[in-house]
Amino acid sequence: MPASKTPDSAGLQNSLDRFIDNDRGNKLPNGEQIFNHPLIGFASAEDPIFGEFRNEAVIGPLFRPPCSWFSEAVTVISYFLPFSEYIRRSNYDNLQTSQEWLHGRFLGEKFNQAVSRFLVSELENSGGKAVVPALEPEYCADYQAFSSNWSERHIAYAAGLGSFGLSRGLITEKGLAGRFGSIITDLRFKASPRKAGNPFQNCPFFADKSCGVCIDRCPSGAIQAHGKDKSACNRYTRIEDHLREMRLRYGYEHSVCGKCQVNVPCEDCIPG
Ligand code: SF4
Ligand code: SF4
Repeated sequence: MPASKTPDSAGLQNSLDRFIDNDRGNKLPNGEQIFNHPLIGFASAEDPIFGEFRNEAVIGPLFRPPCSWFSEAVTVISYFLPFSEYIRRSNYDNLQTSQEWLHGRFLGEKFNQAVSRFLVSELENSGGKAVVPALEPEYCADYQAFSSNWSERHIAYAAGLGSFGLSRGLITEKGLAGRFGSIITDLRFKASPRKAGNPFQNCPFFADKSCGVCIDRCPSGAIQAHGKDKSACNRYTRIEDHLREMRLRYGYEHSVCGKCQVNVPCEDCIPG
């Protein structure tokens, strides 16, 4: 049975904004802010779109719908944490990934997990229960097939936060440079409308072949007019020289790039 209390979505947004403003985890080592205020969207856990995600052409059969993560699922909450201008601008050139972007990606993901836990506690304070699939032990990704049993960008699409771009990021009204997260709860929130008329509406390339800036931004050639080659992108970020430098300079075991997310028209808004 769903919990009896119906929470206030505006109250949840306000609490999260305050958390973003005040939590020290949202800072780089030099004190600069990692993320700006987030967007939040809601989808019914019974929305048929979650069944469609299991199609090979979308995510694939590995995807698990909300009720398989949490049997009392009523609502799926998705949020987008947009990177601050400081982080975004640091990665504008065509050289190696900036130090600020790297910290934003890795320290930012740690903070993203703190955001999920904070939202769980807010939902529990409202009388509900909540599960974060990305933090569950069963969460898994298949890096050969580039598929996973829970996809934050697809969940964000379901929750009305935006639509996909040629670079395969999700273009929200605050752009695509940032991190996504999601929570499943037994509390009932009103579903957000999916304003995009189709899964690619916010990217002008799909309407009339205009833009395409991310094609030229990509140092590996992974983004082409016909789409994105995820293995080429993956190979580029795993070049041994990059990994060695990540380990030696910053202590990270992984590398990232992110050039297609910044200095592009969809960086921090919907182009148009
Ligand atoms: S840079 Fe242009 S073509 Fe590429 S995803 Fe963004 S809006 Fe679409
Ligand atoms: S992350 Fe880098 S290599 Fe991968 S698609 Fe974007 S620009 Fe290309």
